[in-house]
Amino acid sequence: MAQEKIWLSTPHMGGNEQKYIQEAFDSNWIAPMGPNLAIFEENLEKYLGLGHVAVLNSGTAAIHLALILLGVKSGDEVLCQSMTFSASVNPIIYLGAIPVFIDSEPETWNLCPIALESAIVDRIAKGKKPKVIIAVDLYGVPYKIKEIRAIANHYSIPILEDSAEALGSCYKGRRCGTFGDISILSFNGSKIITTSGGGAIVTNSVALKEKAIFLATQAKEDAPHYQHVEIGYNYRMSNICAGIGRGQMEVLQKHLLLRTEMHEFYLDLFKDIKGVTVFTAPNDGYVSNYWLSTILVEPTKTLGISRETIRLKLEEANIESRPLWKPMHLQPVFDKYPYYGNYVAETLFINGLCLPSGSNLTMADRNRIRAVILNLFNK
Ligand SMILES: *Cc1c(COP(=O)(O)O)cnc(C)c1O
Repeated sequence: MAQEKIWLSTPHMGGNEQKYIQEAFDSNWIAPMGPNLAIFEENLEKYLGLGHVAVLNSGTAAIHLALILLGVKSGDEVLCQSMTFSASVNPIIYLGAIPVFIDSEPETWNLCPIALESAIVDRIAKGKKPKVIIAVDLYGVPYKIKEIRAIANHYSIPILEDSAEALGSCYKGRRCGTFGDISILSFNGSKIITTSGGGAIVTNSVALKEKAIFLATQAKEDAPHYQHVEIGYNYRMSNICAGIGRGQMEVLQKHLLLRTEMHEFYLDLFKDIKGVTVFTAPNDGYVSNYWLSTILVEPTKTLGISRETIRLKLEEANIESRPLWKPMHLQPVFDKYPYYGNYVAETLFINGLCLPSGSNLTMADRNRIRAVILNLFNK
């Protein structure tokens, strides 16, 4: 009989989520408004230590509104990390704007400062200054925040920090999700905490938070009748989902430690296996939440074992693993847009694999993963 499937990352409830949902039912706040919203926002603000939070119904919605708040219009160019999930890019297209893709650097797998600057210089020379830089904290590892910020400031281009994967990560003691001119979070089912579906905008201004909520609730002007001056969106989080978020905030710190334990498990598992490296934050200044544990496999050093060999062996044992995000400039839907860089993101994609990383994996799950890997490498 097949063993139960081990997944990359699944929801992990703390226990109190149902209590807050019950409160929503008891008070009949079954709506995209109600007391859980403000409490969840306050919990997030306290946790981040900086910024004002507006919770929305997805991270993608948060990116869409953030681009609008940063003034992106049809025909504008937006610089975006190529190595990411497509949701970082899709909202650029929703707005009729043009994505310009940037390669990664090998230490954080995020925006390469050199490629970024050469793109900015070249786009300006071609007559159009990019409107926004979308910088991602991929797999929970902060991007080169100091270097990217210096470039952004030098050319006066705001940063949209996509921290969908990085709640709980830190750079020099400050939490990810607070480094952008606007930042976003995601609470989708696979993320480090989940509200079943959800996201948030983080800004340093109360006025921007209020503007985000205004746009997310159909841009209704203050009048007794329905009055509209701007295009609105239906992007606010529901009070039910915010109840789940309240419960998840109570266990975030504990779940972070469990994800970090999974990362340590893989460091130990692969320590004597030549040609496989576990992706680790570059130095003490960078603290990853280790949302997903990932490895790079160099077949020239593993006697031909590739990331695909490992993936298929795990699949045989009913264990999920996945190649890293396929870079956006290689996606059929985006390959007509400009790209600046070399082959860093592309090489990561060819050699990289995401491994089961959930905070709810058991010792038995780890033993199954260990057995497959040790068997494959004849250890
Ligand atoms: C998950 C994710 C998003 C989108 O968030 P949703 O809440 O799923 O809409 C955006 N960017 C990155 C990098 C993500 O991983």
